[in-house]
Amino acid sequence: MRINTNYLQLSGRYLFAEIARQVSAYKSAHPEADIIRLGIGDVTRPLPPTAIRAMRQAVEEYADTRTFRGYGPEQGYDFLIDAIIAHDFAPRGIRLDRDEVFVSDGAKSDTGNIGDILATDNIVGITDPVYPVYVDTNIMAGRNLCYIPCHAQNDFTGNIPTQHLDIIYLCYPNNPTGAVITREKLTAWVDYALRHQSVILYDAAYEAFIRDDTLPHSIYEIEGAKRCAIEFRSFSKTAGFTGVRCGYTVIPKELKSEDGTSVNTLWNRRQCSKFNGASYIAQRGAEAVYSPEGAREVRSIIDYYMSNAAFIRSSLANMGLTVYGGEHSPYIWVSTPDGEDSWHFFRRLLTDAHVVVTPGEGFGSHGEGYVRITAFGTCDDSHAAIERIRKIV
Ligand code: PLP
Repeated sequence: MRINTNYLQLSGRYLFAEIARQVSAYKSAHPEADIIRLGIGDVTRPLPPTAIRAMRQAVEEYADTRTFRGYGPEQGYDFLIDAIIAHDFAPRGIRLDRDEVFVSDGAKSDTGNIGDILATDNIVGITDPVYPVYVDTNIMAGRNLCYIPCHAQNDFTGNIPTQHLDIIYLCYPNNPTGAVITREKLTAWVDYALRHQSVILYDAAYEAFIRDDTLPHSIYEIEGAKRCAIEFRSFSKTAGFTGVRCGYTVIPKELKSEDGTSVNTLWNRRQCSKFNGASYIAQRGAEAVYSPEGAREVRSIIDYYMSNAAFIRSSLANMGLTVYGGEHSPYIWVSTPDGEDSWHFFRRLLTDAHVVVTPGEGFGSHGEGYVRITAFGTCDDSHAAIERIRKIV
């Protein structure tokens, strides 16, 4: 056999695996160190009680021959698809058919797997800094990447390219910068995609953190987007499902390739061959998140993280650091003091403050000079981390 040599082009380690390695090496050498982890974007609050009850009930159904279920639909159960359409899209004036929503085991798999149905000679535009999955999965496929610099001058939303791109990844609210995109700027991206017959892969995994209703929650709020965009959503950060695993992808039937092929049909074909559907239990849990009580519980969990975000953001700003994000996002993007190298600052925070953050350079060259801090820690940890950081900056 021969391997897919594209894999040899990947950077040595996945970013978060490298951070985990460095933290664990430090911890082995200093077992007494009480380390606060505000690096990886994993949640710390328990799931909404309504989702827990729904999942318990779903487990019970498996214990009875009358209610037991085997394989479900590859595209997801209608009860969840209907709830998604009714709550995430209809109130914003977006009409979707059931067969335009594909429930999955999360946005990481879908943003990675979507490349299966896209040609390898497409030119891919990737915002920099970026969630590493888009870069890695395109390197695995052997596609050419074109980086779109995102910095404070363009509000971390990139300049509309002058050259042709076939595929464009956008993620708002953004990981890692915490930036959001305005309706005007998203319209400019959609217009670009329509002009170039490109597809925008729009990752809205953090949509639930948007506080300002004038900001677009879905790319389909923009005229013409159904003809040029795929949207990815996740229950991970919305409802604490990082371990449960459930998300979904919207592929409108209007979206066609240059030669007129339906992308929706192709993805459906791909899913039927390679995916056996998300777990029924997870889907019942996700459905419950849309009930009035579930929605209230989700709101209070998000409020908890957002109060951490506001505290981290204002405290760092008061220390004289330049901060971005944290207003409609659980991520705070912080300039390193005096332009310190981001891995150097990461190591200094680890060894001198016992606080783990994520070095910006790990998200791309334009992330150099920044670190990402997450608001997903506990309130106590967020406060303790800030006190420790204060002593060393
Ligand atoms: N998209 C972005 C931008 C993320 O930051 C993450 C997780 O950190 C994901 C997708 C993954 O989401 P899921 O847990 O649904 O796979």
